[in-house]
Amino acid sequence: MAKPSIRENFLRIQERIAAAASRVGRRSEDITFIGVSKSHPAIAVQEAFQAGVRHFGENRVQEWEVKCVGTNNLAATWHLIGHLQSNKAAKAAKLFHTVDSLDDLALAQKLDRARTAPGFSAKLRVLIEVRVAQEETKSGAEIAALPELAEKIAALPQLELTGLMCIPPYLLDAAQVRPYFRRLRELRDELLGKLGMPLPVLSMGMSHDFEVAIEEGATEVRVGTALFGGRTALPAEH
Ligand SMILES: *Cc1c(COP(=O)(O)O)cnc(C)c1O
Repeated sequence: MAKPSIRENFLRIQERIAAAASRVGRRSEDITFIGVSKSHPAIAVQEAFQAGVRHFGENRVQEWEVKCVGTNNLAATWHLIGHLQSNKAAKAAKLFHTVDSLDDLALAQKLDRARTAPGFSAKLRVLIEVRVAQEETKSGAEIAALPELAEKIAALPQLELTGLMCIPPYLLDAAQVRPYFRRLRELRDELLGKLGMPLPVLSMGMSHDFEVAIEEGATEVRVGTALFGGRTALPAEH
C-alpha cells in the first residue's frame, strides 16, 4: 500500500480531534491544529497548506530561516515551538508570529526589544513553556517561578502573553501523560486568579497523545509525525 498523503493524514487527524473534543463536550473549532514541520522540506509545508493546515511549528530558528524562503507565499501562522537560544532571539522575533516555548525573562526582554524596532505593528504572541515534569533535560520554566515570570512577561509592551505550553515526558501509554496535561490546565487557572488576566491558550499534545491533551483542555495541539510522517534525527543546533 502507498504511503498516505499529508492530506489523508490531516483528514484522519481532524476526525480524531473531533472525536476527542466531543467526548468531553468541546467543539473542534476551538482547537487549533499546528503542523510541526521541523526536518521536513518547504514542499511538505506547501502540501500541508493545500490540505488546509494554517498553523506551522518549527523548533530551530536556523532551519526555519532557510526553509521560510520556500513558504513565504503562504498566509499561515508560524510558531516557534523549540528551545530558543539567546543569540537567536532577535531573529526569532522577526521570523515567527508566536514564540510558544518562552521560559526565561531575559529572553522575553530580548524578544520585546527586537519587536520595538520599526516595521512591527502587531505584538509578538508568546506562551510560557512550563516544566511539568521534574526532569533534568527538559526545558521550560519551573512551576514555582511561574507566577512571577508570567507577571513580568505580561508587562512587556511588545509581547502578548496568551497562555502556557508543555512537553510532558514521552510515555508510550498516552493515558499516563494525562496528569501532566491536567497540571498545566490547573496552573493556568491558578494564574488567572493570581494575575487577574485571562490565559486562554493551552498548547499541549503531540502525535501520540493529542487526544488525551484535548480531553484535558488543550486549545492547540502540535502534531508532526502523524501529519508529515517520520523524521530523521538532526544534529544539535550551534
Ligand atoms: C517535534 C515536536 C512536536 C511534534 O512531535 P510529534 O511527536 O512528531 O508529533 C511537538 N512539540 C514540540 C515542542 C516538538 O519539538
